[in-house]
Amino acid sequence: MTAPDGDLDALIREHFARPDVAARDVADMLTARRAAEHPEPLPATAVPAPQFPAYGVTRYHCPRRCGWWHDEPTDPGPSPLIVSVDQAGADVGAMLSLNAEAQLLALLERVERAIGEHYLTGH
Ligand SMILES: [Zn+2]
Repeated sequence: MTAPDGDLDALIREHFARPDVAARDVADMLTARRAAEHPEPLPATAVPAPQFPAYGVTRYHCPRRCGWWHDEPTDPGPSPLIVSVDQAGADVGAMLSLNAEAQLLALLERVERAIGEHYLTGH
């Protein structure tokens, strides 16, 4: 094995000679590359673009601009890592991406619910 500070070409050859890397099909790599270049669009939502009036505060104004708003913490802090059965053994990057998507969906749901309650009482 080449030392990390050794010959770069040798390091690259060793990397591509690894059985797990060499076994990858070119079509799989191209599919993964295309998926990375064109990620799935975010879900359709009625959540307006946020504003950041103060450090740590993300504000969502009423889409009708009546003066009402809903605040969310910019950084909600650590959350438990969700590991489903089908994610067992998956790479950590994919699992973190799925958890970030779950947190985004939860945020959108909270803001949509707040806007919906506001519409029921304020409009
Ligand atoms: Zn309103």
